[in-house]
Amino acid sequence: MEKKRYKHARICICRKCQGTGTVTQYASEDILHMNPKTVACDLCNCNGRVLVDSVTTTTIKPLQYGKDYLIKYSAELLEAAVQISVMLNELKDQLPTNDSFIRRVDMLNIVINKSLENIK
Ligand SMILES: [Zn+2]
Repeated sequence: MEKKRYKHARICICRKCQGTGTVTQYASEDILHMNPKTVACDLCNCNGRVLVDSVTTTTIKPLQYGKDYLIKYSAELLEAAVQISVMLNELKDQLPTNDSFIRRVDMLNIVINKSLENIK
């Protein structure tokens, strides 16, 4: 099933120029942005306002067990995650000790534990 949601045209502030009608540009060779150049905004044509309408399409279809990749291979994905976790544990002494790495390893282990609980 497909649902379409229409939003009627409305006046909005131009997001490209923040309603100013002009945009600051820099030449590609001006890496340090030393020479700003003010140019007309090509999205709103210098008005600072734009007319926006939209259509959102939502698709709803039955879940097909075995056909949808993540479900079909969920056992294999869990097994792969467990193997990575085991490997990380074996290499514990050689791994980075920064917060973001440790947080990701913790998250991996939490996901594995939750998945294993769901199987029981
Ligand atoms: Zn604009």
